[in-house]
Amino acid sequence: ILNADQIVMQFGGLKALNRVDLLIEKGTVHGLIGPNGSGKSTMMNVLTGIYLPTDGKVTYGGALISGKTPSAIALSGIARTFQNVQLFGEMTATENILVGLHHTFGSSLWDILVASRSDRLYEVAARQRAASILRFVGLDDLADEEARNLPYGKQRLLEIGRALALNPGLLLLDEPAAGLTAPDIKELTQIIKKIKESGVTIILIEHHMDVVMSVCDIVTVLDFGQKIAEGSPAEIQQDARVIEAYLGGSQKD
Ligand code: ATP
Ligand code: MG
Repeated sequence: ILNADQIVMQFGGLKALNRVDLLIEKGTVHGLIGPNGSGKSTMMNVLTGIYLPTDGKVTYGGALISGKTPSAIALSGIARTFQNVQLFGEMTATENILVGLHHTFGSSLWDILVASRSDRLYEVAARQRAASILRFVGLDDLADEEARNLPYGKQRLLEIGRALALNPGLLLLDEPAAGLTAPDIKELTQIIKKIKESGVTIILIEHHMDVVMSVCDIVTVLDFGQKIAEGSPAEIQQDARVIEAYLGGSQKD
C-alpha cells in the first residue's frame, strides 16, 4: 500500500535517514523500531509530508505522495498521531473528533451532505460518527470532557480517534504507549488490534517491545538512520545486529 524508496533526510551535516527503503503491505501492522535518534519520527514526518525528503520518493496506493502537502497526504488516506500528544485542550473529546471529521470530505456521504448545504444534516451525521468513533476507542463516557482534563492514557486514545475520523487507509502511530500505565497499554493493544481488523493498515513506532511483539506482523529496525534489520517480531528479537544496536551505548531504553 505504501512504498518508500531510498529515502534520505539530511539536516545540515546529519543524515537522519540514509537510503531507507520501506515497503508496507496492505492490512498489516508494520513496526518501526530503533534506538532514540535512529530516525523513526523523521521517517513518519517524511511519509506524512511534514518533511520533503532530500532524496528518494514515496508512493501510496501507487501514486507519488512525496512533495505533496501534509493536508493533501491526509486527504489521500494517511492519518497519524504525534509522539507528543497534540490535542485541542479546551475542546471536548467529541469536538476534537469533529475537527478530524471536518477534514473528511473525500467520502461520498460527506460530499452529499456538503453539496446539500444542510448544516443541520451535516452536524447530525458528524456527531453520530464522532460518537461511534469515541465508542470504538473506549471514550464514550468521556465525550463531553475537555481534552486537557482527560487522563494521559485517554488523551492518547482520543488522538487515535481523531486520526481515525479521517477514515484513513493507513494509520501512523508514533509511540502511542509512551507514558502509559500497564492497564492503559493493555487497552491500547486491544484497540490497535481492532483497528487492524477494521481493515486499516498501521505503521507503529514503539519502544514497548511487548506491544510490538503482540501486534506487529513485521518489524523494520533503524539505527543511525539506516535499516539494519527487518522480519517477524520473533526474528527481530533474536537478531544479533538489533541486540547490538540497542546495547550500543548513548541511547536510553
Ligand atoms: P526517538 O525514539 O527519540 O523518538 P527517533 O528515532 O524518532 O528517536 P528522530 O526524531 O527521527 O529519531 O531523529 C533522528 C535524528 O534526526 C536525531 O539525531 C535528531 O536530532 C535529528 N533531527 C530530527 N528532526 C530534526 C530537525 N527538524 N532538525 C535537525 N535535526 C533533526
Ligand atoms: Mg521519535
